Formats: sequence, structure tokens, C-alpha cells
Amino acid sequence: MTFPSAIFAGQRFAVVGLGRNGLPAARALLAMGAGVTVWDDTEAARAQAAAEGLTVALPQMAGLAALVLSPGIAHTLPKPHPLAAQAIAAGVPILSDADLLFRAVRAAGSRARFVGITGTNGKSTTTALLAHILDQAGVPVVAGGNLGTASLALPLLPDSGVYVLEMSSYMLERLATLRFDAAAMLNLSPDHLDRHGSMAGYAAAKQAIFDRQTASDVAVIGIDDAASRDMATRLAAQITTISADQPADVWADAGVLRDAAGPICDLATARAMPGAHNAQNAAAAAALALALGVPRDLIAAGIASYPGLPHRLEHVGTINGVAFVNDSKATNADSTERALACYPRVVWIAGGMAKAGGIEPLAPLFPRIAEAFLIGRDSALLAATLAKHGVKHSQAGTLAAAAAAAARSAFAGAAPVVLLSPACASWDQFTGFDQRGDTFRDLVADMREQV
Ligand code: ADP
Repeated sequence: MTFPSAIFAGQRFAVVGLGRNGLPAARALLAMGAGVTVWDDTEAARAQAAAEGLTVALPQMAGLAALVLSPGIAHTLPKPHPLAAQAIAAGVPILSDADLLFRAVRAAGSRARFVGITGTNGKSTTTALLAHILDQAGVPVVAGGNLGTASLALPLLPDSGVYVLEMSSYMLERLATLRFDAAAMLNLSPDHLDRHGSMAGYAAAKQAIFDRQTASDVAVIGIDDAASRDMATRLAAQITTISADQPADVWADAGVLRDAAGPICDLATARAMPGAHNAQNAAAAAALALALGVPRDLIAAGIASYPGLPHRLEHVGTINGVAFVNDSKATNADSTERALACYPRVVWIAGGMAKAGGIEPLAPLFPRIAEAFLIGRDSALLAATLAKHGVKHSQAGTLAAAAAAAARSAFAGAAPVVLLSPACASWDQFTGFDQRGDTFRDLVADMREQV
């Protein structure tokens, strides 16, 4: 279904920041009858917008219904963007496109439900898993927001539909009307503190996912860290606690997901969700699905058949009994730690642009590494750490060379798994973690043809 064309007739919006949220938002607002002015600080983005007929200009704030600001642009810390400062001074609301989606859906007369998912880690996995469970259960569902499709590019759903939105803290700071029928706060650890000022500021931004909820709505809260757990004491909604390893309303008890009514599913059936961290994501998705009325057996079936997301412990092939795993999304040691913890013995491919602290925090997991092949700018730095701990390694340079050498090592019996989990950013050799992961997948596909 598409939105009626006059929903925002007579209203003027400015869209600032023409990236993967801004451009679709501008197009959608126009299609819904609004007046739209767009702006981006980079010339190339302005030229692209002008080429497709959008009105490019520095927006005048007087009379604007809202400024739609890209999540990547600050309106408070570390320093408000000048246009954000102008909007604040003029009393113009600064909104996330998700808020406008909510308004459009309601203005179109649909009572489709909204689910929001946030947390420091696991947002995308939980969002995609819940969407899969709902889809398999026959519920009309779309997923987007911070993951995949921008909110305002999502279609209009009927009353029976569900929007599953991944919400970053940046998006949550900019909601004024969106009320989630069910919302989840997975976990909280220090991140993005430059934008939120402090851990308290970051937690406050995240907690905004529960704003406007009432006693008829559901708040799903991870209790495995104190900052998230504390939120449960301050909310108006019905609370469902979740945990990866301790009793809660929905929790993983020795690998079995359960609630007060008994087992929901054995997580060993969920091939695309290995590791304890994924137990938390599965518990959250199950709690949200229960809140939405999905029967338990369909939740179990959905978790078991979930195919996983690209670049997150993605199984990209098995050759000669060796599994090749693409975890290119792991751009820091924290994420790679979770990946290494999933496998007793691996041939490891890592490297790129190292984060502060390098791979030293991974030392407790080094005994799992049969051999490491290093790529990218900081491979010498990583090599020094591995040498210090006596881990067999070599500097392969490129991902193609590393994949070939890692395969040879694994085929010779070093380990049953080749794991690309770089613990580094990719920008030195790739356009992003996705291109790095796609390259690895292609290299493995080529190997399969040759074997
Ligand atoms: P996000 O969308 O929040 O960045 P993803 O679902 O894309 O999270 O997962 C990114 C990485 O974060 C994964 O590869 C994994 O290493 C780690 N991760 C996923 N879920 C969790 C969790 N519940 N707790 C801690 N770390 C997690």
C-alpha cells in the first residue's frame, strides 16, 4: 500500500543531511504533499539532489513544520550544526524520519503497530530476527530505520501490520509523537559519548524509546547490565525482563529459551545465532513477539529458520569440511571477542585500521587461534601483539592473499573454521565493512568452484 498523496499538504519541511535517511525522507515527504527544501554541506550530495529535481537551498526556518536532520548530524553535543541551532532558536522541532512515518501512518488511518529496538549491540540482529518471526507467522511486517530501509521509505501497512524499527540513540533524541506498542532496550555500554556527553546522557537518549508508552504497551528490558536494568524501575509500560543467562521473564537457561510458561525453543536449533550474545537477542525478539500475540510454536519456528544478517557471523560456505565465516561487521576487539568465543579452534583473518587498544583485549581467546593471517594498514601492530603471545601468524597484505592462505592452513587440518573477524575498521582497503565482507564471500565462492 502507498500513502495518500496529501497527508502533509500545506506543511513545509527542511531535510538536512542527504544520506541514506535524508534522501528517501525528502522524496517521501514530497510524495505525501509536503513542501520540501533540502540541504547538505557537501557539494556532491547537493548536486545529486538537484539532479533528481529536489529544491536545494539553505532552509529558512520561519514556518517550517520540522527540520528533519540526518542522524549523523549533531543538534546538541559536541556542537550543534548551524542549521540545527537556527531551528532551535526559531522553535522549529528537529525530528527523526521515524516520527514522520508514525504521523503518516496514523494520518492515513492505519492502526498498524510499531515496535522499536535499541541498545548498544544487537539492534540489527534483533530487528531482523523479529521481522523474520512475524513474517513466518503471517503478520504483514516491514523492518527498517537504522537498519536497511529508511523509515519514511517503508510502505503503508494495514491495521494488522507491524513496523519493526531499529532505533539508534541519535534517532531516539528526535521523536515527538511516535509511541511504540512494544519497545526493547537490549544492553548499554559506553559508546558515542562525544554526542551524548556522558554515560547518563547516552542512557537518557536510549530510554527515550519508552517515552509516551502507557500501561497498555510493553517495555522489554535487558537486565544483564546495570544501566539497562535500572530503566525497569522508571517506566509506565508493562515490563518484560530478558536475560542471556539469569532468570528473567524471558531468558536463556542453559541454551533453552524459556519464560514462566515453560520452554520456548532450544537455541541450538538457531544456526544463524551462535554465541551467548545472541541468546540475549533471541530473548528480546521472543519477548516482543509474545507481546504482539505470536503463538509460542511460531516463535520457535521463526528463531530456528532465521537466516542471519550478512557480515555478522555469516556462514558463507563449507569447503572440504571447513566452514568459512564472514564477521566483517566486527570492526573492534569487542565484537571479535564474541566471534572468537563461538568457536573452539579457528584460522583467523584480521586487520585493517585498528582501534585504540588494538587486539590486546583478545589475548584470553588467543589459545583458540591455530593460525592468523593479517591484512591492511595495521597488520604489523597486530602481528606484534600476536608474537608477544606466541600465536602463529603471518602478514598476508590483502584479503585475497589471506583467504587463500587461511584456506590452505585449514584444509591441512589446522582448524575446522576460517573466521574473518577483523577487529579493525576497513577504510584502508575497502569502502566499508560490507564491501570487505562481500569480497570475502566472493573469494570463498571462487574457491568452491576450484575445489
Ligand atoms: P548493532 O545493530 O547494534 O550494531 P548487530 O546486531 O549488527 O548490532 O551486531 C553487531 C555485532 O555486535 C555482532 O557482530 C556481535 O559481535 C555484537 N553483538 C550482537 N548482539 C549482541 C548483544 N546482544 N550483546 C553484545 N554484543 C552483541
